Amino acid sequence: MKRKTMMIHGGIVGDEHTGAVSVPIYQVSTYKQEAVGKHKGYEYSRTGNPTRFALEELVKDLEGGERGFAFGSGMAAITAVMMLFNSGDHVILTDDVYGGTYRVMTKVLNRLGIESTFVDTSSLEEIEKAIQPNTKAIYIETPTNPLLKITDIAGAVEIARKHNLMTIVDNTFSTPYWQQPLALGVDIVLHSATKYIGGHSDVVAGLVVVKSEKLAEDLHFVQNSTGGVLGPQDSWLLMRGIKTLGLRMEATERNANEIVSFLQEHPAVEKIYYPGLPSHPNHEIAKKQADGFGGMISFDVGSEEKANQLLQKVKYFTLAESLGAVESLISVPAKMTHASIPKDRREALGITDGLVRISVGIEDVEDLIADLKQALED
Ligand SMILES: *Cc1c(COP(=O)(O)O)cnc(C)c1O
Repeated sequence: MKRKTMMIHGGIVGDEHTGAVSVPIYQVSTYKQEAVGKHKGYEYSRTGNPTRFALEELVKDLEGGERGFAFGSGMAAITAVMMLFNSGDHVILTDDVYGGTYRVMTKVLNRLGIESTFVDTSSLEEIEKAIQPNTKAIYIETPTNPLLKITDIAGAVEIARKHNLMTIVDNTFSTPYWQQPLALGVDIVLHSATKYIGGHSDVVAGLVVVKSEKLAEDLHFVQNSTGGVLGPQDSWLLMRGIKTLGLRMEATERNANEIVSFLQEHPAVEKIYYPGLPSHPNHEIAKKQADGFGGMISFDVGSEEKANQLLQKVKYFTLAESLGAVESLISVPAKMTHASIPKDRREALGITDGLVRISVGIEDVEDLIADLKQALED
């Protein structure tokens, strides 16, 4: 089954009891048992809920794994995955990882003895250098936020296997429509489904898909024990979003390409970060491991003042955190999504005060370009 077909026909389709074409929202917490322990597969909705299960089956199919899991947010998903580790274990992570991931590793999980090192994983050498005797996993975000750096997933898997480490990929920016890390040998793939998978700025959610039965068992134990599950309404919204994920990813990428061409010609733009550009340092790897480059573009306009002017003047780009929705969004990572990263660390990474990030929506691209054009004028 091809991917766009799977988005419609994958997982559990509709409701076998009524013939409903869409999976019903099972707004329920507990289930009647015929006798003690005799039930139809559901006992209590933290452990399992039919609507959530339908979503988990769908994302499992899309990522090509053993089992899917839905959580109340991307951070709940990431935290649950980290709960697979023990005190004293060490994880290597991408250095310009999502700000919340950096925060949970360095301010919460560190207190429980889970150690982390952040390295530029776009360099396989850097990954290998960071391996310690207690290292248990390599956690990769690719492309990254907001600099859109790319890590060679298959290359990282090779290193991980050599050292008996687990590999985890945050696939939020690419979605399973463009990139399927499990097929490249990764053990766990996860998402902030708040972004492209939901796609309509109306739900906060996280998804995980694991490759092996053992990991499925372990993560279900963590999910049920810690309880950060996604509710049935939000599970349904994600399934609804996924039906058009392929169409949306194609539309956003088409728009992104035209916007990048426009920005390249514009004198006010000093630097553009987009993996689809042949000048992007990891363009060849991006092309090899993903079928699309996505709809995230970052560009540097040189100063905080110029960035502010742009934000003030745009009409169709909504000033907001988050990304991956049908509407175009604009943000200044240094002051918004990445504000929790200390300033000196931020600047060392290239996240300057003049760096603007746009999440390209599916509006008519002529309107989007005209909007950026008037907003960039002096
Ligand atoms: C937003 C985001 C997260 C966190 O997800 P939430 O749904 O906001 O908790 C994690 N990783 C990436 C790449 C993100 O963009």
